[in-house]
Amino acid sequence: MSVRGGAGADLVLRSATVLDPVAGVEAVRDVVIHEGSIAELAEPGSASGERVEVVEAEGLHAFPGFFDPHVHLRTPGREDEEDIETGTRAAAAGGFCAVLAMANTEPSVSTAADVAALRERAERDASIRVGFLATVTRGMAGEELTDMAELRDAGAAGFSDDGLPVRSARVLRRALQYQRLSGGVIALHEEDPDLSGAGVMHEGAVSAALGLAGIPSVSESTMIARDAALAGYEEGRVHVQHLSARESVEAVRAAKAGGARVSAEVTPHHLTLTDEMVRSLDSRFKMNPPLRAEEDRQALIEGLRDGTIDCIGTDHAPHSDDEKEVPFEEAAMGVTGLETAFAALHTELVLPGTLDLGLIVARLGAGANLFDQPSASLSPGSEANIALCDLAAEWTAGEDGYESRSSNSCFAGRRLQGRVLMTIAAGRVAFRQRSFAMGVAA
Ligand SMILES: [Zn+2]
Ligand SMILES: [Zn+2]
Repeated sequence: MSVRGGAGADLVLRSATVLDPVAGVEAVRDVVIHEGSIAELAEPGSASGERVEVVEAEGLHAFPGFFDPHVHLRTPGREDEEDIETGTRAAAAGGFCAVLAMANTEPSVSTAADVAALRERAERDASIRVGFLATVTRGMAGEELTDMAELRDAGAAGFSDDGLPVRSARVLRRALQYQRLSGGVIALHEEDPDLSGAGVMHEGAVSAALGLAGIPSVSESTMIARDAALAGYEEGRVHVQHLSARESVEAVRAAKAGGARVSAEVTPHHLTLTDEMVRSLDSRFKMNPPLRAEEDRQALIEGLRDGTIDCIGTDHAPHSDDEKEVPFEEAAMGVTGLETAFAALHTELVLPGTLDLGLIVARLGAGANLFDQPSASLSPGSEANIALCDLAAEWTAGEDGYESRSSNSCFAGRRLQGRVLMTIAAGRVAFRQRSFAMGVAA
């Protein structure tokens, strides 16, 4: 993980509602940060000091900073859409303290030199920690494996051909054998290209009504079953990315019950939206895997609740207007998601009482453990990684623009409740909402 350096300022979040579901903390406290670490959770109103910045946080929630195991930073190659600086700024604006960047850049991240160059760039440009995945196969061509051990030595946080599945079972099996030497989780975009064909949305009643080619749910779930079986057979460790279908939740549940070392993630958009949105033919609702039916959404929620799905990842996928402002069938697949993740989940799942706030916060942090990255904690002694949120704040997504260089958000124009006001990452302030002033104690 790499991050731009800088000394941590001493500050106090005064009278914040501290909620750390993993540490089991829920109380109103002064969060005292000294030299980049959480020094103390003091009685509210008790903390003060010379030259300490004090943030009046009464009524605000302090969560352990979020971790996104799945973002596309588009560098190298498509800096017109995103780069490390804008992408990590967008992440910080969403309360994320660390992200994992996918390797399907142009060119892809397939060599030790590629990983080293990106880590060096992140030291300069990133406002939060960034881990870089490397591809499973050279150039994502699906045939020849990369040098996984060498990539790990260069600092690759894991492996993924995301954007594409590892089509060949033989190739994935070999990767799982090499994983024993290299370590590093293999993250999988599960899709059978033969079943997806030329599909542009979920195959179901809406695609039939619109006359659009569909991507069936089994395109995803059959590959999950195959790869979970391979992982079990080779005693490998795989992570299933962006689950979208009921059948996929069932496949992961069965794999876990069978003892396979499988973890899974789900995006905020698959948890909150369905293929009904596609009736608008707005390309902001086009992504892969596609938004599916309401029964799929309900199965994802249940999977997240019961732990079948371990974590939330945004699959933040910036695209230029050129790629999106075209007819639905021609538009690129993918949506941004970092800046709206928490607010969308809070608005659509927590406020109606569907899922607990603590569960959402826990799942927004759980990706770190899965990839052996440092996880955020509000326990005293921990490095300060904090998302400070106003759960009452209402805002319209996109009304003030985005920190991301791209604007293809599927929540744009939506009224959301719950907003990240400030993010402290690796002990320093990585983001502060423009309207949120910070005072300095006398
Ligand atoms: Zn993918
Ligand atoms: Zn992706």
